[in-house]
Amino acid sequence: MPKEIEIALPDGSKQRVAQGTAVSEILGKKGHSPKGYVAAKLNGQPVDLSRSVEEDAVLEGIEADSPGALEILRHSAAHIMAQAVKSFFPEARIAIGPAIENGFYYDFDVSRPFTQEDLEKIETRMREIASQKLAFSRRDMPREEAIGLFSGLGEKYKVELLEEFTDPVVSIYQQGDFIDLCRGPHIPDSGLLRAFKLTSVAGAYWRGDEHNPMLQRIYGTAFWDVESLKKYLAFLEEAQKRDHRRLGKELDLFSFSDEVGAGMVIWHPKGALIRHILENFEKREHLRRGYQIVIGPTLLKTELWKRSGHFDHYRENMYFTEIDEQSYGVKPMNCLSHMLIYKSKIRSYRDLPLRYFELGTVHRHEKSGVLHGLLRVRQFTQDDAHILCTPDQLNDEIKSIIDFVIEVMGIFGFEFEMEISTRPEKSIGTDEDWERATGALMKALDEKGFRYQICEGDGAFYGPKIDVKLKDALDRRWQCATIQCDFTLPERFDLTYVGADGARHRPVMVHRVILGAIERFMGVLIEHYAGAFPTWLAPLQAMIVTVTDGQIDFAREVCRQLQGRGVRVEVDMRSEKLGYKIRDAQMQKVPYMLVIGNKEVENGTIAPRRRDGTQLSLMTPAQFAELVEKECIESSKGRVGLNIV
Ligand SMILES: [Zn+2]
Ligand SMILES: [Zn+2]
Repeated sequence: MPKEIEIALPDGSKQRVAQGTAVSEILGKKGHSPKGYVAAKLNGQPVDLSRSVEEDAVLEGIEADSPGALEILRHSAAHIMAQAVKSFFPEARIAIGPAIENGFYYDFDVSRPFTQEDLEKIETRMREIASQKLAFSRRDMPREEAIGLFSGLGEKYKVELLEEFTDPVVSIYQQGDFIDLCRGPHIPDSGLLRAFKLTSVAGAYWRGDEHNPMLQRIYGTAFWDVESLKKYLAFLEEAQKRDHRRLGKELDLFSFSDEVGAGMVIWHPKGALIRHILENFEKREHLRRGYQIVIGPTLLKTELWKRSGHFDHYRENMYFTEIDEQSYGVKPMNCLSHMLIYKSKIRSYRDLPLRYFELGTVHRHEKSGVLHGLLRVRQFTQDDAHILCTPDQLNDEIKSIIDFVIEVMGIFGFEFEMEISTRPEKSIGTDEDWERATGALMKALDEKGFRYQICEGDGAFYGPKIDVKLKDALDRRWQCATIQCDFTLPERFDLTYVGADGARHRPVMVHRVILGAIERFMGVLIEHYAGAFPTWLAPLQAMIVTVTDGQIDFAREVCRQLQGRGVRVEVDMRSEKLGYKIRDAQMQKVPYMLVIGNKEVENGTIAPRRRDGTQLSLMTPAQFAELVEKECIESSKGRVGLNIV
């Protein structure tokens, strides 16, 4: 007689079964069809339905709509895709193939990039594999044996991974003739893959490192049902239309160049103008709130970075250079010169809070694999500020930063969510410091009536923080603003103020950004507005087009008058057909178009047409300038008129 074991189920009942019984069989006995499950949790760990249970355990089935189920499906889809790829490209070497946020990918070492045609073929083969209902079977084997197995298959990337593993036993999965190194779990058989799509191909360095071979990554997505897949693909299409890299090119806002280097943005006139407007807007908003504008150098001696702790904790992300045999670091953050400004005088409690604001351009070494348009770059400008205050002032300071975030995000039409990250395992500062600062962050959010998530242990080593996640028009989340408390820098730089008691005290330091990196924020803005900027931000507010060349002189005169009043306007001088020029201005998403024909010349008036097609009545250039000014003020909630540039 085999030994009996006891299984605890989620409804509180217990079942006695023979040792070695499969998960699917145990779950099936509950009166459910085991077909309702796609995997299970054994003592909290996700496992295959085919896993046999060897000792007393807690068991719970994972259904298609359970959390984590979609990941199992998508990871299984990645295996099936790799099987399909290997059937066409037997020489392809497989790297890794995880489930990701909205789907999955697999990286392949192949002799040429995959084409759209390849994707279609691979997708068809995947459907065939799905219809064969191939079982995913798991085998545990000693690591050494697995190294032998994958060496024999020529899978050098798997061998490299295995050589770094420390576990003596590893697991491999097989469906059909495809074998992969994998922790699992997987869906029971390939037949559950019913709704999927391969979405794109991209180059990706092995382990994201540019010194490694370039692999070909195929992205795909999978859902349990066709309806959800359709919905997601429609969303993806809209997101692609709004992709800031595509719009950046179409609207001639910015570019990247191999000759310059990866992750460095080149701003063209229109993009630079939007940035200029944003930066002027920010300077005003900071000055109105009692910040002082400061400017620090880009290169600071390496000695100073050692003192701040950046050299020890952040060196891999920094660039260094030498001047007169002295080592310098290119700043990855703006904090240091702000602290030197603080230290340039004896500070009294009456001077506090001090709020230093800098549009600080920083450089950080990001791996080339993670660079992504404007969203992830190596050189960027932050709307950075450091607030130095007494511990008593911390709560009010944080509340006013939160108000700042609310007002600014309201202007751009962003909703957002807040998260507080608390003390990580490796951290500095006393318990009291952490409690006080974390308490101040929570209290400020509570008092403002915000609900927030707490991310335990996700704070920086030097202090807790609030992260603000923007929700854009497609309901995607973007990290922009952060508010961070810092205990180390005031300590390391021995910052003090003279208190009311005449003794020296340590100020509290807050690092904060509102928009974050301007580059990233602009990337998010471009996608949020789908390139159709509100009038106050639009680099070009009006485009003048003439019916024939006969009206050019009048058009130039109108342009001069409007420019004189601050309107950002151009004349389309090309001798193209009127329809062509109108379509072009529409493509450029210019808020107003001013069509000038003979009638306009005779009357000395213009007939503006809005971007949405609304035709306005005849007016003089001066009246039009007033209208644009009014619209700027309205669309920026009273902040910005025509005088921003
Ligand atoms: Zn796997
Ligand atoms: Zn800082």
